[in-house]
Amino acid sequence: MFDWILDFLFPPACPICGRYIEQRDCWCRECVKKLVRPHRLPLDDEMNRLFDGGVWALGVYEAGLRDMLRRLKYEGRKGLLGGLHSFVGAGLAGVPSLSVARGVKAFGDDSPVAVPVPLHPDRLKERGFNQSELIFREPFAELRISMEPVLMRTRPTVPQFGLTAAERRENVQGVFKVATGADLSGRAVIIADDIMTTGATLLECARAVRGAGAAGIMGIVAASGRK
Ligand SMILES: [Zn+2]
Repeated sequence: MFDWILDFLFPPACPICGRYIEQRDCWCRECVKKLVRPHRLPLDDEMNRLFDGGVWALGVYEAGLRDMLRRLKYEGRKGLLGGLHSFVGAGLAGVPSLSVARGVKAFGDDSPVAVPVPLHPDRLKERGFNQSELIFREPFAELRISMEPVLMRTRPTVPQFGLTAAERRENVQGVFKVATGADLSGRAVIIADDIMTTGATLLECARAVRGAGAAGIMGIVAASGRK
């Protein structure tokens, strides 16, 4: 169908507030402005040592952003990715060590590689996609940072949701490993996830990545409940 007919019948609307927008699959300017809030998260000592590049959240896990992430993850609404990509792109521009470098050097001495937090193969099969990979691959590519899904889960875990901080740590302890043949030695690695709550998952990923010889580690999440 011609785009103009489609636009006439179904005017493009911001998926968050419903306001009319010029380009389909994006968010309106007001929503982007309201929801893009890149901020460096406070970390405990162990996280601080591992994440020498810090952990950054691009927005706060509430209202509109929470809905978009949930609808993608649990309803498989991939049509929301366009808006999420523009959100992530705007957020990454607000992370100093990335925006200064613009894809040449982010931190460390090498061009960085982005690694999504993996799902267990059973979960991946059930969902059909890894949301963290879908959310970040394109915006990182814009910065000429390639995404390599080299982390793997060695066993299934129960969802972190509803567990205490101590239970979360135990649930994911030692669960991640770097795929055989992947070479992270001496490289700057950006671990990317959709949401950070206590940081237990990111911590375990960072341990695996450091164990594989990464020279520097940074964490980027689309949203965190921590402001
Ligand atoms: Zn809006």
